[in-house]
Amino acid sequence: MVRGWLDRVRRSKDLYRLELRDRSGLLEAVWQPGNDLGDPPSPESVVRATGLLRRANGNPVQLHVEELEVVAPAQSPLPTGPGASRSQELDARHLELRSASKYLIFAVQTTLEAAIREFVLARGFVEIHSPKISGGGSESGATVFSVPYFGNSAYLVQSPQFYMQMAMAAGFERVFEIGPVFRSEPGTTPIHATEFTIAHFEMSWIDSHEDLIDFEEALLRYAVAAVAAEHGEEIERHCGVSVDFPSEEIPRLPISEAQDLAGEATVSDERSLSDLERTLSKRAHREYGHGLVFLTDYPASARPFYTMAADEAPDDEPLKSRSFDLLWHGIEITSGGQREHRFDRLERNIAGAGLTEEAADLYIRPHFLEMFRYGCPPHGGFGIGINRLLMAMLGQASIKDTSFVFRGPKRYMP
Ligand code: ATP
Repeated sequence: MVRGWLDRVRRSKDLYRLELRDRSGLLEAVWQPGNDLGDPPSPESVVRATGLLRRANGNPVQLHVEELEVVAPAQSPLPTGPGASRSQELDARHLELRSASKYLIFAVQTTLEAAIREFVLARGFVEIHSPKISGGGSESGATVFSVPYFGNSAYLVQSPQFYMQMAMAAGFERVFEIGPVFRSEPGTTPIHATEFTIAHFEMSWIDSHEDLIDFEEALLRYAVAAVAAEHGEEIERHCGVSVDFPSEEIPRLPISEAQDLAGEATVSDERSLSDLERTLSKRAHREYGHGLVFLTDYPASARPFYTMAADEAPDDEPLKSRSFDLLWHGIEITSGGQREHRFDRLERNIAGAGLTEEAADLYIRPHFLEMFRYGCPPHGGFGIGINRLLMAMLGQASIKDTSFVFRGPKRYMP
């Protein structure tokens, strides 16, 4: 007996040729309901089919159905049929997700996250679940969603980082979390969602952001290898890409050199930043045979106030920050850096960060800065956007495809 969906129904003389589907794949079946064939169940109906499996002369195995029970009929036509718009498909995501290629994305995500967990647990990390509702916006408050909170305003958290740093101040040394974050960003691009999953890591006693880059590289090498071992063949078949991670070190390019390489594009402008990222990844692909590149040494002025800056800069060069991004096929999948852990420097950074007084006084000084008043070890961390990592790894064109249910400025249903 097999249980699943009727993928296809075709009449062939005095019998029906069926394709049955479940999450493991397709099975051919033939079914002769009786002398009068009658109307077949509609495609996509949920069925139980009982019969004998036969294989004739090297042909694929076939189920000769003796009894076909329609457990739940599907209405026709399906809203996701030919001619359906992307919006109609997303409205009927439960139907769109019935395909093997869509299911694969979430099977890959599961393997990926399990491997990430395995890697960090073996290295002494503790998993935390930080709050998603907070009384303060993480940085400027400009890209947070506000929610009514018993007569006050609260916000949906846009990064778990501050809570991870709280764990550093508490002496946890190594923590991680894989969970949702929320960004109220109105723009629509193929790589931006308003809710997405981030895998965030924070670790104490690092010497610089280089330690974080080493760590992330080893982590990704391990996790991508786990995905390739478990799903490599299917990924080639459904996505047309082969999953591999370079065995040699991923190039680490200071942003100033990256800009020279990419020519016109500059880091100061949002649009050209993505042009820069695309150009660089193409170059990396040409030169190293993969599209991965770490960008380092961003000017301190281009990074948030909590990022540690170099102690000094050579004459007429901007002060560098101890931070990095990771690009894969032109997509920024990670941002990270060493955090400033010295109270007096942080206090100075906050004063010069251009925060609204309200944001600084309501949250940043009393709740963030306070974490450093009583001593906090040197530390740093990074966040990997899981949906973007899946896009890069599986060659998917849009974050809509790697989000179980996508959230964007114009899409918050179903
Ligand atoms: P971007 O410049 O691409 O908007 P960001 O610099 O704002 O990203 P961070 O705040 O550093 O990103 O977030 C860490 C990681 O989270 C990014 O490297 C990326 O992988 C992911 N990420 C950030 N914003 C989004 C988004 N709107 N949708 C999906 N993933 C995102």
